[in-house]
Amino acid sequence: MKIYLLLLALITFGSCKKIKNITTNQQEQIHLVDSSLVAKYSASITASSLKENLYLFASPAFAGRATGEEGQKKAVRFLANFYKSQGIASPIADTSYFQHIPKTFLPENIQASENVLAYIKGSEKPEEVLIISGHLDHLGLNEKDIFFGADDNGSGTVAILEIAKAFKAAQDQGISPKRSILFLHLTAEEIGLQGSLYYTKNPIFKLENTIANLNIDMIGRVDPLHKENPNYIYIIGADRLSKELHYINEKVNKNSTNLLLEYKYNEKEDSNRYYYRSDHYNFAKQNIPVIFYFNGEHEDYHKPTDTPDKINYTLLKKRTQLIFGTAWQLANQENRLILNKDN
Ligand SMILES: [Zn+2]
Repeated sequence: MKIYLLLLALITFGSCKKIKNITTNQQEQIHLVDSSLVAKYSASITASSLKENLYLFASPAFAGRATGEEGQKKAVRFLANFYKSQGIASPIADTSYFQHIPKTFLPENIQASENVLAYIKGSEKPEEVLIISGHLDHLGLNEKDIFFGADDNGSGTVAILEIAKAFKAAQDQGISPKRSILFLHLTAEEIGLQGSLYYTKNPIFKLENTIANLNIDMIGRVDPLHKENPNYIYIIGADRLSKELHYINEKVNKNSTNLLLEYKYNEKEDSNRYYYRSDHYNFAKQNIPVIFYFNGEHEDYHKPTDTPDKINYTLLKKRTQLIFGTAWQLANQENRLILNKDN
């Protein structure tokens, strides 16, 4: 089965059309803002901080964070306490970072749950908002094992915390983003993208003012195709609604993190259909440009062995820095992202 899949993957990979390389002209049109500031605050994102938070978030105490269960409740309290301790506000109310999702919205036998929201208000265009998201839930436990979900999606969760901290550090030194940034931790992804569906049906900021969604789901590991060159990340969806978003992400990467940006899972014919399989898709359905950052599947995917000791923290840091740089550009560049004409 594995060999068959590998062959299939190779055939698909070999036959698919890559996104055309950006022309020099197109690259020139994108002007990266605040390069030295981005470098400065990007440097505040560290492997040790990511590691410290991930060992907590993927610990036995959170019992695999199954939607509606006690471990997931602990996880959302952990996230709310983090934002509180950092002085990062909630957009919902002063006292709660939770968007409650009633039991009636969720599949049968799933208890009520909650998304966690924190935000930094924009200084010039506060009504326009960039959403940085990642799911907080995972598969829970069975009779003998905990599904720790360190990569899925502890890695994305702690990346968001680190990005939020970096934007807050800038704000504390008088540099607020021009647009608002919403840090959105979504529940119930593993049971059908329910947390993001609920948010898009009950948005806190108007969807028409939501400029983009950067969604992070599994960015701490290396897949079998990249054992020899782990300096990569899969980029999915970036060009579908806004080519400008694709070019921005490429240019930020070229100027800073220099990861190999892999697009094979972005192909429309790709049989894995990852574009439809994480929370960004609910935003894309609303015509909001998205990027899905993803390391691909690996041998511990959806197994109890997805543990924090197997995360490549240096790589997690680099990938987090790329997302931070792209987020900074989107929140601060003069124009709001331009949508493709043929959408
Ligand atoms: Zn996931």
